[in-house]
Amino acid sequence: MDSRSKLIAFAVLVASCSSVRGPGGGAVSGDASAEFRALYDSGFNHIMAAVPDNAQSLGLSPLQGLGRFRTQRVAWAGMKGNAYYAIEPGRSDGGWLVIVPSGSDVLKSMKSTLEMDPGPTVAAVLIKQEKVSEVWAGLFLTHELSHLADRVLKVEPPNPTRAQFLMGELRAYDLELMGADLVSAGRLRQHLDAILDRWQLESVASVTERCVHLGPPELAALNDAVPGGDPQSAAEARLRGGFFAAALVLRFSERNRLPDETVLDGLDRLLAVEPEPRTSVDPRPNLPLDLTAGMGRTLLGSDAPFARRSSAA
Ligand SMILES: [Zn+2]
Repeated sequence: MDSRSKLIAFAVLVASCSSVRGPGGGAVSGDASAEFRALYDSGFNHIMAAVPDNAQSLGLSPLQGLGRFRTQRVAWAGMKGNAYYAIEPGRSDGGWLVIVPSGSDVLKSMKSTLEMDPGPTVAAVLIKQEKVSEVWAGLFLTHELSHLADRVLKVEPPNPTRAQFLMGELRAYDLELMGADLVSAGRLRQHLDAILDRWQLESVASVTERCVHLGPPELAALNDAVPGGDPQSAAEARLRGGFFAAALVLRFSERNRLPDETVLDGLDRLLAVEPEPRTSVDPRPNLPLDLTAGMGRTLLGSDAPFARRSSAA
């Protein structure tokens, strides 16, 4: 994991801290959006507060760098109709976080609770108003901020190849796992190891096949490892499920010192899995998956922070 950790660290370090411009600025309406902004902020702060001073020696500098990126280059924006407006001062070369208002047409095209704006004009993470617990809000945001950093810092080229896209997912899941393991004080990794020990599987392909059918006891153990209690919604359960599946693939790869291309192959297989429809009478313990976050993005560099959203949305 060294090469990509270094890449993240480098990319985040080169993010300069030039002057902050405030393009416009809108009044914060007293709607539910403000509560969601507070939830995601406090969740992310929770993760960052767990990063120790000696982060570098513990291999956690990418997470520390992501925290700096959030502080220096990312601001909240709101959405009115099909346009963004600033809620707090941001940067023309930065990224934005947006709580999508309920009733917005944008929701119809969103596949996941959090995802990048697919348009070429604005680097923004869109967030649905779906209930999530605080710590997990911070972890999901960690994942999306990694995608946002890739785009803002041009780590991922415009129109990435499948391999470059998967590399972006790998960086995002790496950071999310780093954060989750940190807030669980290492318990998450212990539980991942216990599951992998029990499975005794020998290839990434067999792990991806197995990890989308996690049983209730395995899911419960993984959920218990990370503070935050039960999922607050079906959407959160799906997002957690997708993360646990990716975490098993990453941990398996780490334990077996597999090369990046083999890990990417594992993620490729995982991201190709469609969530299986579940009914209330279906007793199968299929893992509800949400691995769609960040998929289908177009990555065209742009510095215009308040262009209208593309009509595709
Ligand atoms: Zn992603």
